[in-house]
Amino acid sequence: MKKRVLVTGGAGFLGSHLCERLLNEGADVLCVDNFFTGRKENIAHLFESPYFEIMRHDVTFPLYVEVDEIYNLACPASPIHYQHDPVQTTKTSVHGAINMLGLAKRTGAKIFQASTSEVYGDPEEHPQRESYWGKVNPIGTRSCYDEGKRCAETLFFDYHRQHGMNIKVARIFNTYGPRMNPDDGRVVSNFIVQALKGEDITIYGDGSQTRSFCYVEDLIEGFIRFMNSENDLTGPVNLGNSGEFSMKELAEKVIKLTGSTSKLTFNPLPQDDPLQRKPDITLAKAKLGWEPVIDLDKGLQKTIQYFKKIEL
Ligand code: NAD
Ligand code: UDP
Repeated sequence: MKKRVLVTGGAGFLGSHLCERLLNEGADVLCVDNFFTGRKENIAHLFESPYFEIMRHDVTFPLYVEVDEIYNLACPASPIHYQHDPVQTTKTSVHGAINMLGLAKRTGAKIFQASTSEVYGDPEEHPQRESYWGKVNPIGTRSCYDEGKRCAETLFFDYHRQHGMNIKVARIFNTYGPRMNPDDGRVVSNFIVQALKGEDITIYGDGSQTRSFCYVEDLIEGFIRFMNSENDLTGPVNLGNSGEFSMKELAEKVIKLTGSTSKLTFNPLPQDDPLQRKPDITLAKAKLGWEPVIDLDKGLQKTIQYFKKIEL
C-alpha cells in the first residue's frame, strides 16, 4: 500500500516542491491549504496524478483524516504576510500544531514540523547551533511568527515526552527558488523582480546584515532524509546553506546575473531585523549525511529563469 502523506501548507512555495517530490517517490499525497499565501498555480501540474488530493482547510480547526506521515508547513513565512494578521499567524502556528499533533497522536503518524531560524531571533551566537536558545523579542512586530514557532516547538517536544510520539523538528534557514511569490516581500524575490523590471533595488538598512540562502531542492532533500531518519532523531536539526552573504552582496549578485541597470536604494531597517544569520549544519551532516550542493550563483540563475517566465 502507498504511504499516505499529509502536507499542510502544501500549495505554498516549499509545500508545492515537497508534494511534487513525495509524489515522485510513490506516496499518496494529501495537500491541505487555506490559500492565504499559497496558490493553485503552484500545484496545478500535480492535479493529473490520481495520488494527489487537495483540501481547502484552515489548520486552526481540527482535521480528521487517516495518514501515515504529516509534514506541518502551514504558516505564512514572509514578514509582510505574517504581520498582515499577526493574531492569525500565532493561531496558525500554535492551534495548527495542536491540531496536527492531535491528528498524529490518534493515527500514530510520524510528524515533521517546519520550524525556523527565527527561533534564534537576533542571535548573539554565530553561527547558530541547535543548542543556542536564541534572543527573541516577545512583544515586537516579528513576535507573532517567532514566538508562535517557538511555542510550536514546545508543543512538539511535550507531545513527544508525554505521549511518546515520533517527531521531527527542522529549523529552516532562508530558502529561495522557483514558485516564491513575486510580491511576498522576501529579499530574493524582491531583488530579482526589481532587477528584471529595471526598478531600484530596495536595501533595508545599510545592507550589511547577513543571511544564508539555501536552494529549495537542497532543502527538500533534507526534509525527506530527516523524515526517514532513525526514530530517536527528534531534532531540532538546522537545515540551511552555510554560505553567508550581506544583503548588499546579494543585490550586486542579482544585478550581475540579470544584467540589469537597476541602482541600489537604501530604506529604513525593519524592527528587530536580525543582523546576522548562518546555520551550523554539523548535526545534519553527521546524522542525515546531508548538505546543500547548489551554490548561490547557480540557485539564483535557476530562480531568475523562473521569474523571467512568469508574469510580473
Ligand atoms: P508560503 O507562505 O509560500 O507557504 C505557507 C503555506 O501555508 C501557504 O500555502 C499558505 O496558504 C498556507 N497556510 C497559511 N496559513 C494556513 C492555515 N491557517 N491553514 C492552512 N494553510 C495555511 O511559505 P513557505 O516559504 O513555503 O514556508 C513554508 C513553511 O516553512 C512555513 O511554516 C515557514 O514558516 C517555514 N519556513 C520557511 C522558510 C523559507 O525561507 N521559505 C524559512 C523558515 C521556515
Ligand atoms: N531585505 C532587503 N530588501 C528587501 C527585502 C528584504 O534589504 O526588499 C532584507 C531584510 O531587511 C532582511 C533580509 O533582507 O535583513 C532578509 O529578509 P527576508 O524578508 O527575505 O527574510 P528574513 O528577514 O525573515 O530572514
